[in-house]
Amino acid sequence: TERSLVLVKPDGVRRGLTGTILARIEAKGYRIVALQQCEATEAELAAHYAEHEGKPFYPPLLEFMASGPLVAVVIEGERCIEGFRSLAGTTDPTTAAPGTIRGDLGRDWGLKVQQNLVHGSDSPESAAHEIGIWFPSL
Ligand code: ATP
Repeated sequence: TERSLVLVKPDGVRRGLTGTILARIEAKGYRIVALQQCEATEAELAAHYAEHEGKPFYPPLLEFMASGPLVAVVIEGERCIEGFRSLAGTTDPTTAAPGTIRGDLGRDWGLKVQQNLVHGSDSPESAAHEIGIWFPSL
């Protein structure tokens, strides 16, 4: 089976949606392998978003991700990388499909960053890399 790294971003924690989001993950049948709430360090965020360095939304993205606690989760299940991204919905919460986490719970705050509640790894390679950032002991 496969593992993926999920983040409940600071907007999700702030809005009290952590439990709802975890419940959707479990209802889908994925197992929670590790779970931790923390305030992300700049080093963790720089490692996590290295591919976006230099893009216009990178500075506000890091600022947003450091604006409050986030919840890091390792999930496990058959094809959970693709499956969680499908469950999360597309990046822009305004147009994300109803039935998805972002489509049902996300909204457009008119800011420079999509405050889209969750992150999910997009490939086995990024899952391994991201699990190493947030859970070095795994
Ligand atoms: P997804 O592609 O499903 O959003 P992701 O979270 O990995 O997954 P990325 O494209 O890696 O998305 O971008 C990381 C995050 O940066 C996004 O989730 C969003 O918060 C923000 N972001 C990405 N693209 C933009 C953009 N064009 N404008 C504002 N914020 C963006």
